Amino acid sequence: MHFQPEFAFEGQPVRVRFAPGVRRCTGEEIARLGCSRALVLSTPPQADAAMEMAQEIGDAAVGVFTKAAMHTPVAITEEAVQHARYVRADCVVAIGGGSTTGLGKAIALRTELPQIVIPTTYAGSEVTAILGQTEKGEKTTITDPKVRPEVVLYDAELVRSLPVAMTVTSALNAMAHAVEGLYAQNRNPVSTLMAIEGLEAFAASLPDVMRNPHDLEARGATLYGAWLCGTVLGQVGMALHHKLCHTLGGSFDLPHAETHAVVLAHAIGFNARAAGRELEPVSRIFGGDRPGQALYDFAKSLGAPLGLREIGMKEADLPRAADLAAAKPYWNPQPVSRDEILKLLEAAWAGDPPAF
Ligand code: NAD
Repeated sequence: MHFQPEFAFEGQPVRVRFAPGVRRCTGEEIARLGCSRALVLSTPPQADAAMEMAQEIGDAAVGVFTKAAMHTPVAITEEAVQHARYVRADCVVAIGGGSTTGLGKAIALRTELPQIVIPTTYAGSEVTAILGQTEKGEKTTITDPKVRPEVVLYDAELVRSLPVAMTVTSALNAMAHAVEGLYAQNRNPVSTLMAIEGLEAFAASLPDVMRNPHDLEARGATLYGAWLCGTVLGQVGMALHHKLCHTLGGSFDLPHAETHAVVLAHAIGFNARAAGRELEPVSRIFGGDRPGQALYDFAKSLGAPLGLREIGMKEADLPRAADLAAAKPYWNPQPVSRDEILKLLEAAWAGDPPAF
């Protein structure tokens, strides 16, 4: 039982559908929203998927915009908003990962157009009211209910094309939301239940996906994990792990999902000293009695990148990263000191097991 004597819970209004092939119900969902003029969004590499979607929707698709990019550059958003106004779109359909979802949210922020998201990674952005945007090299993050998508269609057929390496890093990115949710200051019994179920879904299904990336049922279970973990991210506050990844991504241009995949075990090892009881489900699900080590072993078994050095971080930048990560105060179960963060980062850079 996960009862807490005191908590607050806020349900979030989002319509979620799961089914292999459910993307074919997009037209039905557009009509259900009372809309009839959808602008379909994607990144350049997923332009084919966007064109197929537009064909599928038929007359209710009035345009396709395929320039979504990582970290939601404001210049691209402004171009997309102009395009949406030009074609008189009354809703957006985002098909892709967190970058495409981000563009849909950024359009919604400026136009209030409703969004249908069809996720093709496990990032979880589709169920949060959070939007990160970049302008002149600076990333700012806002939380606004206006950007939370109205409808999410989880179609396991679409994640079969996610390359195995991205599958692993994207899944660890999703799991990080759940693991940090377990010790969040404002967690509640429902967020804890969802976090545990999300972690169990990934633990059970990822090995099957590794054996057969086209296993539709296992892919469906990974999307189920992504939904649960993303919902936790949307409900409760994150701490050291997410702050550290934000710093590494923003200041050293490291790739989003890969950075999460590498840092997770180290941040959790660090925090397990103060949040051992809250992190017990992690040890139960992934084995052993040390949650950081358990996550490290799980990531290693999946062939995930283990070291920041493998994903573009220079060793000489570690002290500056530690300075930046310790500069702004935020709540974390374990007090954060610059020297301990440096020790954490040194192990993460080398790909060693967690230092704490
Ligand atoms: P992504 O959306 O940038 O996708 C990476 C690449 O993989 C893209 O080229 C994409 O087109 C391609 N791709 C995606 N799905 C594919 C598939 N099934 N098959 C083949 N190729 C595919 O990566 P991401 O990790 O999903 O998203 C990262 C972005 O999302 C970051 O900008 C991050 O800040 C943001 N994010 C935001 C939130 C939030 O709540 N606001 C949460 C998580 C992530």
